[in-house]
Amino acid sequence: MALSGVEIFKLLPKTNCKKCGHPTCLAFAMKLAQRQVSLDACPDVSEEAKRVLGEASAPPVRPTVFGAGDKAVKMGEETVMFRHEKKFVNPCVLAVEIKDTMSEEEISGLVDEVVHSEMDRVGQKLRIDAVFISNASHDAGKFEAVVKAVAAKAPAVPLILSTSNASSAEAAVKAVADKKPILYGADESNADAMANVAKTHKVILGVSAKGVEALSTLTEKIKALGVEDMVIDHGARTAKEILKNNTLIRRAAIKKNFKPLGFPVITFAQRDDSMLEALMATLGIAKYSSIVVLSKIEKWKNLSLFTSRQNIYTDPQVPMQVEQKIYKIGEPSAESPLMITTNFSLTYFIVSGEVENSRVPCRLAVMDSEGLSVLTAWAAGKFTASKIAQFIQESGIENEVKNKELIIPGYVAILSGAIEEKLPGWKVTVGPREANALPTFLKSRA
Ligand code: SF4
Repeated sequence: MALSGVEIFKLLPKTNCKKCGHPTCLAFAMKLAQRQVSLDACPDVSEEAKRVLGEASAPPVRPTVFGAGDKAVKMGEETVMFRHEKKFVNPCVLAVEIKDTMSEEEISGLVDEVVHSEMDRVGQKLRIDAVFISNASHDAGKFEAVVKAVAAKAPAVPLILSTSNASSAEAAVKAVADKKPILYGADESNADAMANVAKTHKVILGVSAKGVEALSTLTEKIKALGVEDMVIDHGARTAKEILKNNTLIRRAAIKKNFKPLGFPVITFAQRDDSMLEALMATLGIAKYSSIVVLSKIEKWKNLSLFTSRQNIYTDPQVPMQVEQKIYKIGEPSAESPLMITTNFSLTYFIVSGEVENSRVPCRLAVMDSEGLSVLTAWAAGKFTASKIAQFIQESGIENEVKNKELIIPGYVAILSGAIEEKLPGWKVTVGPREANALPTFLKSRA
């Protein structure tokens, strides 16, 4: 159970020495109770207090990493129910299922799709993160062979190995233990044997039960067997039940610090209907799943899931921004158009995407507006005639362009006269209001 501020205070040195940056031990204790500071900030805390407080101040959803190398993924560490309270920490892992009954070509094709699923969106690399290999054949040799083949073809991709047979698990996990996979498939019937495999090879254990109550009993039992890192599955497969159980688990972990449910949750979204699968996966992303398993990869689905995940896992208090500078799109000459916009990531990527679509080489001046979009930045006084003129003058672009013409977004047409006044010798042209009109606008000038 979480300790209150007063209970934490009783365990601190009570010297009010201020070394932690707080005026009193009580103030520090209150912050610690709200998980806003780390116990490490107090250098004088006793070993006994460290043991008690370390456990009480651990994140309510256990931090867990699976995979090895730069594609390893972090899960857990969540501390809030809603992203606006603080932020969600570790983005939901998207995994695609490979059954060991599939043909070699199918398996190879799916692995290729995973490897090539990476895309760049507003400056972040997004991808299908992992492969979920299921022992659908119930044949230990076949399972091991497929696990080895996938690991050889995509050595960096994290793996989840799914089997309820401890012998199959032992052989497959042993083959790829260095890749720190998840072994999924422990339940009430095989908990001892599966825990033994997970413990021997130091891998995360995926635990499933029918319902939240049975699940918490099982995780306690498995923890007593010596396995600390788990991923949990409450067994629900309908949208309504997934939403209900995921919420119950998150609430129990966050609000009550109920350790038996303080683990990352895995959700199975596989459906024959791709649209339904995308909706199920989106539900998992939005509502507390740390892993969502898909049946297949489709580009449209990737794009929608990546976007949902990215939106939910960005910090709502920090606008996404790109660097202030003049970006070249294509290979602009001295006569190519020069446009200006703000440094809100979405604005930059939408505008630059439309300019690329036009195939007209351009320069795009991206001005620091603290991550605000054009109209918001203008309203907030961060995209004004003076600031635009100053940015253009200081950028040195004047020496690179022949025509001193600056194209401004249509939404701030009102600034055109003032910019011309502050930028002597420059002509200001008002561009379209919406980015999707840019290709027509640019081609008409070419
Ligand atoms: Fe108290 Fe420790 Fe902070 Fe000093 S550093 S004020 S002892 S909590």
